[in-house]
Amino acid sequence: MCCAPQRGEANESCPWGVTHLVLPLFRVQFASQVGENDDWQPDMTKNPTLCHIGWQYNVTMNDAREKRLAIVGGGAAGLAAAIAAGEAARDAGALLQIVVYERDDRVGRSILATGNGRCNFSNARLQLGEYHNSDFVAQAFTALERLRPVRGCGEPVTSEVSELPRHVGVRDEAGRSVLEFLESCGLEWREEADGRRYPLANKASVVVDVLRAAARTLGVCEQCGVGVKAVEAPRKPGGCFTLRMADGVFERADAVIVACGGRALSALDVAGLRKKDLKPILGPLRVAADDIPFVRELDNIRVRCSVRLFRERGDDLVLLGSEKGELMFRKYGVSGICVFNLSRMARPGDQLSLNFLDIGDLQHARDYLRFRRDKLVARFGVSLTCADLLRGLVLPRVSEALLKSVGIDEGRTCDADTCDELADLLWSYPLEVAGIGDEDVCQVRRGGFSVDGFDSATMQSKEISGLYVVGEALDVDGPCGGYNLHWAWTSGLLAGASACRE
Ligand SMILES: Cc1cc2nc3c(=O)[nH]c(=O)nc-3n(C[C@H](O)[C@H](O)[C@H](O)COP(=O)(O)OP(=O)(O)OC[C@H]3O[C@@H](n4cnc5c(N)ncnc54)[C@H](O)[C@@H]3O)c2cc1C
Repeated sequence: MCCAPQRGEANESCPWGVTHLVLPLFRVQFASQVGENDDWQPDMTKNPTLCHIGWQYNVTMNDAREKRLAIVGGGAAGLAAAIAAGEAARDAGALLQIVVYERDDRVGRSILATGNGRCNFSNARLQLGEYHNSDFVAQAFTALERLRPVRGCGEPVTSEVSELPRHVGVRDEAGRSVLEFLESCGLEWREEADGRRYPLANKASVVVDVLRAAARTLGVCEQCGVGVKAVEAPRKPGGCFTLRMADGVFERADAVIVACGGRALSALDVAGLRKKDLKPILGPLRVAADDIPFVRELDNIRVRCSVRLFRERGDDLVLLGSEKGELMFRKYGVSGICVFNLSRMARPGDQLSLNFLDIGDLQHARDYLRFRRDKLVARFGVSLTCADLLRGLVLPRVSEALLKSVGIDEGRTCDADTCDELADLLWSYPLEVAGIGDEDVCQVRRGGFSVDGFDSATMQSKEISGLYVVGEALDVDGPCGGYNLHWAWTSGLLAGASACRE
């Protein structure tokens, strides 16, 4: 069975409800005026909700045979799904109305905030094992490479600009179909030394622009300012899904792709399916009350250091993870990409250990500080204080806070034992984790729909045919560095193509 566009209840009173009442006529009227391949576009400034309706493939909106795909959420995964569905429908010559329902006033806003406004959309060195639920992710990557074999992508660009050898290392990596997809939408990109990929224009808005343009060309309809409250499964096999909107209106669809991200997921009922609790991760960490004076003293100070995360198990301290990079002190704790990554594993009671010296081994750190002391004494010919030893090694505020926290007077003479004491302090400064520092800053929510209920090759529910969940709404997450967007594109592409096929 197929669902012709329908709206219920508050239909006439709803301003955007007019879209579906007007469009069939609107479309029919213009279809007779323009040729099938004419590059005609409706004037969206007159009614912003009348956007991106299927003009290009001459989709007849009131055709009884037309199928309807509803996508809940116009973020990374939702837009990728819409484009993949549009491409599949075009290639199959199928009549498919694709509607993206976005509660915000525009699609793609969540993408604009990524990568500090630059959108780190992928990574050349994705380690699949780093993903939460990595087996599921690996199967999805393989499925996508089968679905979208890479053509042409991965060739080096001939350019005099040295930053442009962007495809180096692409050939053997996992997930290169995503590049092919974004390139096919028109995105040019570059790669930084650590493998992070950004748009060549270095602006997240460019990514949104190319996705919207691709969606528009494929006739995808954006319905913005429309929050979906619930998705109800068909009452009988082959029946329609019902989408209940926040304003009481309902819509019907033959298939639904849930792409609402993690933040808003708890407010959306999806066919009564159970969700795991959503936990904010990839964010700053709050430290225990005893450590607050230390971090408060250093509020807003940035240091390069390595950070390890330990958990007590019996009498042992087990290392859970370690990261290197820039760490920023906050009044409540610590922040920075290295902390964000550790926040995926951290629990209250765990211990962070900050190493301010770029030295992996404690004995080397002690040897180094003694060597430094001897060198400075030889140079200046005077006895050395703790403050003298740390000057030039760490920031003055860091030196002050470190010494103060362990009650060492900065004027104390730095003998061999004090040297070791300072080496220990700099090599492993402990902070107890109390929890996530600021949920609003967290980049991802862990939890949502368990991957066990979904097919890894299509993202379709194993229980409810025609229902798909993609992106962050599934219980998948990765570290910083392009992992999460890469997952959003991958899962969205699989679901979009499958929803059109089924
Ligand atoms: C500040 C920040 C920076 C980040 N930087 C990066 C980065 O550089 N690289 C990276 O890989 N990842 C990054 N991430 C993570 C990444 O943005 C997400 O993992 C990714 O966007 C998830 O995609 P999604 O499509 O599943 O969800 P989202 O992108 O969150 O999109 C969900 C969309 O659904 C809409 N929506 C929600 N509920 C409803 C509803 N009920 N009805 C209708 N619409 C609804 C939302 O308004 C939104 O537009 C960052 C995250 C944040 C917060």
